Amino acid sequence: MLELHDVNSYYGKAHILSDLGFSVGRGEVAALLGRNGAGKTTTMKSVMQLVRPRSGEIRFDGTSLVGLPSHKVARLGLGYVPEERRIFSDLTILENLEVGRQPRRQGAPNWKVETLFELFPNLWERRHNRGKALSGGEQQMLTIARTLMGNPKLLLLDEPSEGIAPVIVEQMAHTIVRLKQEGLTVIISEQNLHFARMVADRAVIIEGGEKKFDGSFPELEAQPEIRDAYLSV
Ligand code: ATP
Repeated sequence: MLELHDVNSYYGKAHILSDLGFSVGRGEVAALLGRNGAGKTTTMKSVMQLVRPRSGEIRFDGTSLVGLPSHKVARLGLGYVPEERRIFSDLTILENLEVGRQPRRQGAPNWKVETLFELFPNLWERRHNRGKALSGGEQQMLTIARTLMGNPKLLLLDEPSEGIAPVIVEQMAHTIVRLKQEGLTVIISEQNLHFARMVADRAVIIEGGEKKFDGSFPELEAQPEIRDAYLSV
């Protein structure tokens, strides 16, 4: 569904992604793993064309994304949840969800407000509260729910377990597993190997913007030297 080939991305003169390539299949949950500064966010931004790769190819269902404006990338069915939660703090939860609404998309789960509240029961309880009254974890859930209102085919979640209470981390893991069951393809970026293992089918490890490992979690566990070299556990 998503393929990256030899992607090179820069911030000014700083070369961040070096010949990065990996692919994600339909219905798969892939975890992009690596330490702080490894290039996970830059990879997601490169897919969304928020960072323009200087070379390489990124294809989604066969369509090249390189050079498209980011809103067109989103319209093709890619939903991006950045690490910094972007909710509208003066709007209620319900209003925040309405902002994300997009028409139904062929080949993607069709989300309704009611189904999203089943997925995020905490949000239902607080549906008339304004965004600013929510905890960090609830804001994270709301950002995901609002992105789902756009009926994406592929969801990119940047560090979903970062900075939220342990009990919410558990809920987040269940939610991602549910999204997979609904047929959504998901890429998460994570530093937390334990969380990634709970939700993902596959791990892609990057360090210094280069791919260092691509395989299943049992394969990764069989190579502890890779884990020790590239992940903080
Ligand atoms: P984190 O967990 O901190 O988000 P990450 O793996 O997502 O880490 P990136 O945010 O992609 O890493 O950062 C990769 C490298 O790019 C880092 O060295 C970072 O300092 C640098 N970088 C990130 N954003 C910018 C920017 N806007 N301008 C210049 N350098 C940047």
